[in-house]
Amino acid sequence: MGKIEPFKQKVWLASPTMHGEELEYVTEAYNTNWMSTVGKNINEVEKIAAEKSEVKYAVGLSCCTAALHLCCKLAGERLYGKPAISHGALEGRRVFCSDMTFDATLNPVVYEGGIPVFIDTDRDTWNMDPVALEKAFEMYPEVKLVVSAELYGFPGRMDEIKKICEKHGALLIEDAAEAMGATIDGRQCGSFGDYSAVSYNGNKIITGSSGGCLLTNSLEDANKARKWSTQARENAAWYQHEEVGYNYRMSNVIAGVVRGQYPHLEEHIAQKKAIYERYKEGLKGLPVKMNPIVEGTEPNYWLSALIIDKDAMCKQVRNDSEALYIKEAGKTCPTEILEAIASINAEGRPIWKPMHMQPMYRMHECVGRAGSIRCRTNAYIAGGAEDVGADIFDRGACLPSDNKMTEEQQERIIWAIRSCFE
Ligand SMILES: *Cc1c(COP(=O)(O)O)cnc(C)c1O
Repeated sequence: MGKIEPFKQKVWLASPTMHGEELEYVTEAYNTNWMSTVGKNINEVEKIAAEKSEVKYAVGLSCCTAALHLCCKLAGERLYGKPAISHGALEGRRVFCSDMTFDATLNPVVYEGGIPVFIDTDRDTWNMDPVALEKAFEMYPEVKLVVSAELYGFPGRMDEIKKICEKHGALLIEDAAEAMGATIDGRQCGSFGDYSAVSYNGNKIITGSSGGCLLTNSLEDANKARKWSTQARENAAWYQHEEVGYNYRMSNVIAGVVRGQYPHLEEHIAQKKAIYERYKEGLKGLPVKMNPIVEGTEPNYWLSALIIDKDAMCKQVRNDSEALYIKEAGKTCPTEILEAIASINAEGRPIWKPMHMQPMYRMHECVGRAGSIRCRTNAYIAGGAEDVGADIFDRGACLPSDNKMTEEQQERIIWAIRSCFE
C-alpha cells in the first residue's frame, strides 16, 4: 500500500460542534446585558441539566473540576463535619478513587486535604473494578468516600459501585464528565452519585467552551454549592462571610452556548456511535478490540479507543516523557499507531495514564483484586495483584472521534492504522 495523503485540515480527537442556537442565546444575553454570572441562560441550563441527568437539582459552575471540588466539600462536611477554617473537609482521610481517568477526577480530593487511594480497573469494563473496590474496603474499612468516573462515555457498573458504597456506609461522587447521555439499565449517568458532575469542556460530547454542573437530589446541598460558588456571601446588607467561598459560578454567556447545545446531545451521540461502529467494522480481522460495551449499558460513544492483543504488541518502552518502540513485522504498539495517525494530520491520544503511575501520586496506594499494587512502570510487577490499568495504558489508544470527521476521512485513518500491522 502506498503512502496515505495527509488531511489539509486537521481531524481532531473531539472538537466543539456548533449549530447556531448557541449564538442566539449568547446574543440574547448580550442584548439584554446579562453578561455576568446571573441570567436566564444559567437558570435554563440548570433546569435542562437536572432533567437530562434525571436528578432534582443542577448547579451551573465554571467547569466540571469546580463541580467535583464542591462535591468533595459537600461530602466531606456531611461525613466529618465542618473543618477548621484553614483545613480541608477531607483532611487526612483516605478516599477511594478511579485510577485510569483524567486527573481532574480526583485532584479535588487533594484540594480538600484527602488522600487518594486508587482502585484498579476492571478488564471487562475499563472502569473502576467493583471487586477491587470490595478488596479496598476490606483493607481500609474506615473509608467513607468513593470517587468514580465513567471512561470515554462507556460506563461500567456504576450501579454496583453504588451498592458497594451503601453496604459500607460510604458516599459516592460520580464523575460523569465524559458520560453525559450514557445510561446503565436505562438510568442516566450522573444520577448514580450522592453528588455527581458533568462537563461542558470544549472536547466533551456537548460544550459551552467550558463549564460544568454539580448534580444532586438534595436542595440543601445544591443551595450550599451555589452559595460557595459565589464567594459564600451571607444574606446581609454588606459583604458578610461565615465560611470560605469560591469564584466558581458559570457565566450567563457560556450558559447560552450550553443551552443551545443540549437539544443536540442525542444527535451528537448518534454521530459518535456511527464513528465507533465504522472503526469496529473497518478494523475487523486485526488483532485489536474496541472499548468494551458492558451489558445493560448504552454508551454515549464519546471517544472510540482500541486495545492491541498482547501477542500483537511489538516492544514499546515509555519513560515519563518519551516512548520508543522496535518495529516487528505483523506487530505494532500504541506509539506507532498514534504516529501513523499524526502523520496524516489527525489526532489520536494515549489512554489516560493511570494515576498510580503518575509521579505526583506514585507513593499512593493502588488496590487491585488481589490487594495492593506497588507497581510503578511495569504492567506485571505487582505485590501479587495484576495491574490492569498499566496494561490497558500499554496496549490502548484513543482514536480520532470528531463528530465532523467524514466517512472518507475515517476510512483513511483506518488504513493508516491497518498499515501499522504490516
Ligand atoms: C474533562 C474531564 C473533567 C474536567 O472537566 P472540566 O470541565 O474541564 O473541568 C473531569 N473528569 C473527567 C473524567 C474528564 O474527562
